Amino acid sequence: MTHWLPVLVQTPAHSAVAGPLTYRSEFPLAAGSLVRVPFGTREVLGVVWEAPDAGPPQRLELETRPVAAVLDGVAPLSPAWRQLVDFAASYYQRSLGEVALAALPPQLRDLSAAQLARRLRRPAAPPPEAPAGAGPAGNAPDAIALSAEQARALARWDAESGPFLLFGATGSGKTEVYLRAVQSLLARDPAAQALVMVPEINLTPQLEARFVERFGPSWGAGAVVSLHSGMTNPQRLKAWLAAHSGAARIVLGTRMAVFASLPRLRLIVVDEEHDPSYKQQEGARYSARDLAVYRGRLEGAKVLLGSATPSLESWQAGEKGRYTRLDMPSRVGASGGGNGSADAALPAVRLVDMSLQPPRTVFSPQLLDALGRRIARGEQSLIFLNRRGYAPVLACTACDWKSECPNCSAFRVFHKIDRTLRCHHCGFTERVPRACPSCGNVDIAPVGRGTERLEEHLEELLAVVRRPGGEPVRVARMDADTTRLKGALQEQLARVHAGDVDVLVGTQMVTKGHDFRRITLVAAVNADSALFSSDFRAPERMFSLLMQAAGRAGRDAARAQASEMWIQTAHPAHPLFAALKKHDYPAFAAQQLREREQAGLPPFAYQALVRADARTQEVAQGFLNAASAAAQGLAFFDRVTLYPAVPMTIQRVANVERAQMLVESASRMALQRFLAAWHGVLQASREKGLIRWAVDVDPLAI
Ligand SMILES: [Zn+2]
Ligand SMILES: [Zn+2]
Repeated sequence: MTHWLPVLVQTPAHSAVAGPLTYRSEFPLAAGSLVRVPFGTREVLGVVWEAPDAGPPQRLELETRPVAAVLDGVAPLSPAWRQLVDFAASYYQRSLGEVALAALPPQLRDLSAAQLARRLRRPAAPPPEAPAGAGPAGNAPDAIALSAEQARALARWDAESGPFLLFGATGSGKTEVYLRAVQSLLARDPAAQALVMVPEINLTPQLEARFVERFGPSWGAGAVVSLHSGMTNPQRLKAWLAAHSGAARIVLGTRMAVFASLPRLRLIVVDEEHDPSYKQQEGARYSARDLAVYRGRLEGAKVLLGSATPSLESWQAGEKGRYTRLDMPSRVGASGGGNGSADAALPAVRLVDMSLQPPRTVFSPQLLDALGRRIARGEQSLIFLNRRGYAPVLACTACDWKSECPNCSAFRVFHKIDRTLRCHHCGFTERVPRACPSCGNVDIAPVGRGTERLEEHLEELLAVVRRPGGEPVRVARMDADTTRLKGALQEQLARVHAGDVDVLVGTQMVTKGHDFRRITLVAAVNADSALFSSDFRAPERMFSLLMQAAGRAGRDAARAQASEMWIQTAHPAHPLFAALKKHDYPAFAAQQLREREQAGLPPFAYQALVRADARTQEVAQGFLNAASAAAQGLAFFDRVTLYPAVPMTIQRVANVERAQMLVESASRMALQRFLAAWHGVLQASREKGLIRWAVDVDPLAI
């Protein structure tokens, strides 16, 4: 008997094929089954999306082709997983096939049925059973005493349903709370699964180590698996299958892990929930944090969002009672989970008014003096500057030539180490010219500074200072340039931990997650760029970055008393710094939320951006404005505001002109309905010269 199966295959974002295609099968395959199907001249992976139809489809495509093979070694994807994909596709305005297939491990798409069967024939992990000593009476982990705040948070976690916002200062022991939450879940239900998401796994190897250390001994080496883009395709497939089969208890992953197939999912942790890297920046621009909250509700899994500086969206949800807030304001003492006996102090914040310094001062004498004292005591310092390279621009001293990128509306950055000019947007790289390409003047000079120049400058300034043993000072740099090679990051971290570095210069990379116990001074040398930005989220990001950077200082309780955060600014009276000085995130959030409410900005309004790329700015903007004009009369048109098309901040990248249009509404539902109705109009408005367009719902930068 013939069955007609609706099957999803990978389709381009705005192709005419939006939903499932129909294939024939002699067997009634369950919804969620993985199959290989012919598509054009190729054979591709497909997901049976719904139960087979009783009769042939209404509109039978020319000739319905048969399914080529069934991947029957893999259990069908669950209804909840399919609903998550369905929701993500419709909320973020992408095709179902694109989202579903992108959510599966890449190798699954490439392997034939026979190849996959061979791979699956390897012995599977035994089904989970409660191991001895893993129950509530289990011993090892409980040896670490909880602080009173941690115990209170966990008691509420156990008693209430959430979603929870764990508002815990850096060093307050959030990780221990995650570990205990997972532990108590597994003690109650040995077959349950937990998803723990982190912004960037490569930057937080300690977290992975702690989960393996905690759960490996009783649950086996395969109990904790990782899912992130740094893994090879075979590794990713293996981890995905372990999660999908239920063999893995805990999946640790980056944003992509929100789509992991977890048939027994009961708990989702989103660590550093404010981190922008949870928002996918290409393809389906989903927020893994927001999808985690949706998925928790869908599957009855408890959701725990953790941060020292929550996103204003999550903070507001806590204020309104939609999230249950768990507060842990104090740092715990000593290492690991802390003993809770000695609350370590947060570092003192010192502001240096740079408007009182001679022009072009990079390091104020006060800061240099403080650095010198740390070095003499054998302590470490961290200098933070969010700009890599040597200098952001190279300029001619005789004419107005600057190191512009020929392909982008941006300057190429001068990298002194290999004497190149590199565009950080399109990658275009050239040797530094010997003379000005415009007037021939040989005197071309760097303007401004990046981490590379800062490191060089600091080495000069500290040349007279000596370490306790009489040796010269050791300055090191850590940014995307110095950690590009595999293993380089781990090597550099090891050097810092071993005490081989006195002063570490770096980009925001150094503020994330690392547990630098010997660092007692953190300094931001140029914190002003975000204060007067056109991006309304810039202060929020800056505050969180500075709080995180401050959190790097004095992790070791014994040194915490003397630890300091230095900020050089020309605007020391700015309210952002006043809140930072008191480590008062709630005050900062309240002030920002007042401003946002007055201005009608998120979380008090909902936004979407439509972006268009074209050969010319006229075409890009013309497409958007035409689609806007054609939107009149669509559903919910009267409840959204369509702004005129504008060029993007960096208007041209790799010779492509970019424009965007903001769509705003006071109602999330109205915005969603309007976007769904508008999609067809945008698709029909395509014109010559337009390269691509895409909708970004809940954009992080406008
Ligand atoms: Zn010149
Ligand atoms: Zn470029």
